[in-house]
Amino acid sequence: MIVLGIETSCDETACAIVDDARTIRANVVLSQLDEHRPYGGVVPEVAARAHLHYLDGLIRQALDDAQLDLGQVDAIAATGGPGLIGGVIVGVMTAKAMAAARGLPFIAVNHLEGHALTARLTDDVPFPYLLLLVSGGHCQLLEVEGVGRYRRLGTTIDDAVGEAFDKTAKLLGLGYPGGPLLERAAERATNPGRFDLPAPMKGRPDCDFSFSGLKTAVRRHVEQLGTPSDADVADLAAAFHHAVAQSLLDRCDRAIKAFKGRHPADKHGGGKHLVVAGGVAANKYLRAQLATLAAKRGLTFTAPPLALCTDNAAMIAWAGLERFRLGQTDSLDFAPRPRWPLDPNAKPMKFAGV
Ligand code: ATP
Ligand code: MG
Ligand code: FE
Repeated sequence: MIVLGIETSCDETACAIVDDARTIRANVVLSQLDEHRPYGGVVPEVAARAHLHYLDGLIRQALDDAQLDLGQVDAIAATGGPGLIGGVIVGVMTAKAMAAARGLPFIAVNHLEGHALTARLTDDVPFPYLLLLVSGGHCQLLEVEGVGRYRRLGTTIDDAVGEAFDKTAKLLGLGYPGGPLLERAAERATNPGRFDLPAPMKGRPDCDFSFSGLKTAVRRHVEQLGTPSDADVADLAAAFHHAVAQSLLDRCDRAIKAFKGRHPADKHGGGKHLVVAGGVAANKYLRAQLATLAAKRGLTFTAPPLALCTDNAAMIAWAGLERFRLGQTDSLDFAPRPRWPLDPNAKPMKFAGV
């Protein structure tokens, strides 16, 4: 079983091909950094036009890399949302056209489900597992009970964690894209304990998150310093990492207790994994901290390889394959969805996309 996946929900144009033996046959990602850098962030209209410009070529390249003809592909998957709607439309329409022309099944994948199931492409991670989803638009704790079956334990009440990385990097004059630049700055810190930043929500009796206060605390330090030196920036970046980690660990620890209560470890390997996914999961410091927590609580920690944490199409092809083998395909009149929570009972939440 071979599935081709397309990802166009933000500023990565991507196409990948995976099979049911969990081999990634092709994985092509084009980050539109040069298009958006002059604006210091992603411009939706610019992103949509760039997807349109690059996507055909990327699909051809993925098929060439995999040495496959479209006739050997069993289904076409594309991100159907949530995300910047112009880009999502480009990917969905392209996938539908290919499916219609070749008489292939079409699968509209929830981008968040792509992140959520990536660990099952690269590692043996049976359901149920506990998932910390940390990305540019989301920060959630979810019990993953099966394909399409999510129970949300907590979410952010303001900014997503990736958004906090990006905004803080901007405040520190590190530029765009913020997450990786802030990580590198923190690695240069010579006095990482110099600034004391609050660990948001620590000790609260729920599993929610909040990051806007942390960003404000960094801003206050920057204002006090006037023009921060490289050493100041590095120390502040380290303090930011420490505060984010303390908050994530506290929230995860609560979620682990709830998860274990509902899903005791079973003989099929279920109930045994803490998984982290999404762009921020590429952060090595946070990965190390989460691994330590999981070990302390007797869980196996699983994080996708760095390149599969940030947006890519292998995760979309894989989520499509997981759905396809359960017989879950979509009709060609599927409408792209700017909002699409994983948990159907989710409370309305702030949309951090368009
Ligand atoms: P969503 O998946 O919620 O729709 P998105 O697709 O835009 O949002 P991702 O590509 O999953 O987000 O993640 C991008 C985010 O990850 C950005 O905010 C980026 O700064 C952050 N990020 C990427 N690499 C790192 C890193 N090494 N450390 C911290 N943050 C990082
Ligand atoms: Mg991106
Ligand atoms: Fe994403």
